[in-house]
Amino acid sequence: MRKHLLCSFIALIACMSFSACSSTALTNRSQLMLLNSQEEIALGEQSAKQVLQQSKVSNNQKQAQMIQRVGQRIADVAERPDFVWEFYLLEDEQVNAFCLPGGKVFVYTGLMPLVASDDELAVVLSHEIAHTILRHGAERMSMQTLQQIGGGLLGVIIGSAAPGYSNLFNQAYSIGSNVGVMLPFSRSHELEADKAGILLMQKAGYNPKAAISFWQKMSKNGEKNPSDFLSTHPNDSKRIAEIEKLLAQQEQKK
Ligand SMILES: [Zn+2]
Repeated sequence: MRKHLLCSFIALIACMSFSACSSTALTNRSQLMLLNSQEEIALGEQSAKQVLQQSKVSNNQKQAQMIQRVGQRIADVAERPDFVWEFYLLEDEQVNAFCLPGGKVFVYTGLMPLVASDDELAVVLSHEIAHTILRHGAERMSMQTLQQIGGGLLGVIIGSAAPGYSNLFNQAYSIGSNVGVMLPFSRSHELEADKAGILLMQKAGYNPKAAISFWQKMSKNGEKNPSDFLSTHPNDSKRIAEIEKLLAQQEQKK
């Protein structure tokens, strides 16, 4: 808790001193941000190349087309014209999916048995795309930078540390020994990606109620075999309740 408070304090000082803050898209939360969008995209594109070099693209055309169809519809409403969106189905039995800054989206074949419809696939793709649109990876890199160097050297790092970002990016996204698999997101990032993901999928014309059936299936699957997805996107018993609350609030407003 103390560490958390210290981080928040340093983040606050950083925000005040160096204009190192930005606001999240869709949820409008202020976040610490030490790298700009272009740097983030360059790192994402670099990692996407690495992922493709080290993985096998699946030749299941039907599933690949489904990912392309649903992913593109969500990308169309994500308001990131600076992204070059591409969607890949990778041959891997892990239950997982992720999106890198720049717009490269990867789904493992192991996840596909858990999605019964375009709506359910839209849940997971919009959640992953939301993490990226909300710049959660970059935010985590910024926090790590602060934790590693302390507040005093901030001016130095902001001025000159751009080359060092590559290492930090790899840490934040766990690229290297474990290509493409992210470290666990925090609970607050998870809930925020759920909320923004629901907004995105609705905007793209998908049924947000699929979020409830999808997450129920995910948590059941996680009980049986500790799922890779849940290790990077920690499931919270509150997740489904929060989604139900959001949908109920939307119903009331109608
Ligand atoms: Zn997540």
